[in-house]
Parts: sequence; structure tokens; C-alpha cells
Amino acid sequence: MGRLFAGTQWDVPPRCDRCGALEAECRCPPPPAPARESLPPNKQSAKLAVEKRTGGRFVTVVRGLAAADNDFPGLVGQLKAACGAGGTHKDDTIEIQGKHLDAVRAALERIGYRVKG
Ligand SMILES: [Zn+2]
Repeated sequence: MGRLFAGTQWDVPPRCDRCGALEAECRCPPPPAPARESLPPNKQSAKLAVEKRTGGRFVTVVRGLAAADNDFPGLVGQLKAACGAGGTHKDDTIEIQGKHLDAVRAALERIGYRVKG
């Protein structure tokens, strides 16, 4: 945008809206990229499996949901509460301790996810 009043008494040099410094002198970091639009749960399909880990422990594994599209810490918290069990997430996989296929499925469906397997 041109400076409409260049050379007049209204010719105020542009300043940064964040720090108030002249734009030429501003050292603010670039604004963060807009958050990626996340997929609604009903556009995502979770795949469930019970797997045996070393030591004979069973875990209920949720795959097919992308960490980028979901609040995994919040989701793991809801699944742990629904199962009364511990749980964790790594990359795009969620694991809940123990065999909890039905409870995990019900909790995911209650939130709105589609569930396979
Ligand atoms: Zn600035």
C-alpha cells in the first residue's frame, strides 16, 4: 500500500503493531503461521487393536488418527478416564494399558470418531 500522505504532515512512518518500533527497526519474529484447520472427528477413522507387549502385558492401540489433527494429550486423558487405565501417545499412535477395545471404541464414538477393527 502506498503512503497516501507522503511528504505531508500526516506522513507518519509505519510502525509495527506489536512492539511499536518503526517497521524498518522492528525485530519481532514473523507472526506464527495460521493453525492448520483440523479435521472434525467424524472425518477420521480410528483402527483399534489389542497387542501383546514384552512381559505379557496387553495394550489397546489406536491408529489411524493423526496427532496433527487431534488434541492427543486431551484424547488420551479421555480414553484413560473411560478405561480406568494408564495410557500414552507417540507420533500418531495412542496406547492404553490393558484390553479395553469396547471402552475405547465407545469413548471414541461418543466423541464422534468413526471406529474400525
Ligand atoms: Zn515489532
